[in-house]
Amino acid sequence: MAVLTPRIGFIGLGAMGLPMASNLQRKGFNLTVHDVVQAPMEKMALLGARPVSTVAECVRGAEIVVTMLPATTHVESVVFGDAGILANIEKGAVLMDMSTIDARATDRLAKACAERGIGFTDCPVGRLALHAQKGESLFMVGADDAVYARIEPLLKAMGTTIYRCGPPGMGSRMKLINNFMLLSTAQIVAESLTLGTKLGLSIETMREVTAGTTAHNGQFHVLMVNKVLKGDIEPGFTIDLAFKDLTLAMNAAAEQRVGLPLGSAAHAVYGAARATRYASKDYSALLDLACDLAGISAPRLARP
Ligand code: NAD
Repeated sequence: MAVLTPRIGFIGLGAMGLPMASNLQRKGFNLTVHDVVQAPMEKMALLGARPVSTVAECVRGAEIVVTMLPATTHVESVVFGDAGILANIEKGAVLMDMSTIDARATDRLAKACAERGIGFTDCPVGRLALHAQKGESLFMVGADDAVYARIEPLLKAMGTTIYRCGPPGMGSRMKLINNFMLLSTAQIVAESLTLGTKLGLSIETMREVTAGTTAHNGQFHVLMVNKVLKGDIEPGFTIDLAFKDLTLAMNAAAEQRVGLPLGSAAHAVYGAARATRYASKDYSALLDLACDLAGISAPRLARP
């Protein structure tokens, strides 16, 4: 007997959205997809998805609409307005925003959906693009039980790890904390490896020793080992988007009257990095930037 899967509208087919949507389509969901760029829509068409040129076409008839867009402004621009999601989505459908955006904007989306009888969940995504490609993402979910039951099959098709963080809005808040922690750490790793290289340590020695101490961390041993230290700084996750996420954390801290002294320094580094040739490169390129500033060649693993 054929299993009925919900009709999905998927908007935003970038570094994350394309592999996530591809996994859904490959695993039997019926997708209608939309992006302002044509190339990823053509890739999805090859997998059997239906590409469309407007948001309205993408959401009409869909039971679940997924958004995976760069930032708050992009999400709000596709959700609100006459040609947007809310004006065209079926009553009773679910809007599932997986982008990393300002949690206060998430609250506005949740409220607007509730007023129109639309279900809402924020499910920002953890881990890297390489995990999304393998269907190994992690999700931080803000949802009530009824909505969660409807979206769980999609999460299981796109990833391996699901954390329910509370009601709508709490996924976005958890994601903000997660990225504040990892993005600040990435800059500490970049500075450590730059100093170590200048002191004459090999990258292999620094990798091996810190893997066995409490300095062990994902930014060195997963991110940098798989990207910049292999000579690959194509995104991945861009420095521009990383700056956006640190700005979300700084704004939340200001609103809550919490000081983030180390975070402020990291935020300033990412802000300055956006003025360099690394702005649209993977954020692991913080290592290359730190080495440029120190006047040395960035280290690379001999045998990645
Ligand atoms: P991206 O810039 O690679 O992709 C965004 C896509 O959205 C692009 O294809 C773009 O053309 C499309 N888009 C922009 N405006 C649009 C509009 N108005 N209508 C339709 N499509 C539009 O970004 P990404 O790296 O895929 O990140 C997406 C979100 O996921 C961001 O919020 C990011 O912070 C978050 N995230 C990224 C990673 C990562 O490793 N890249 C990991 C976890 C979470």
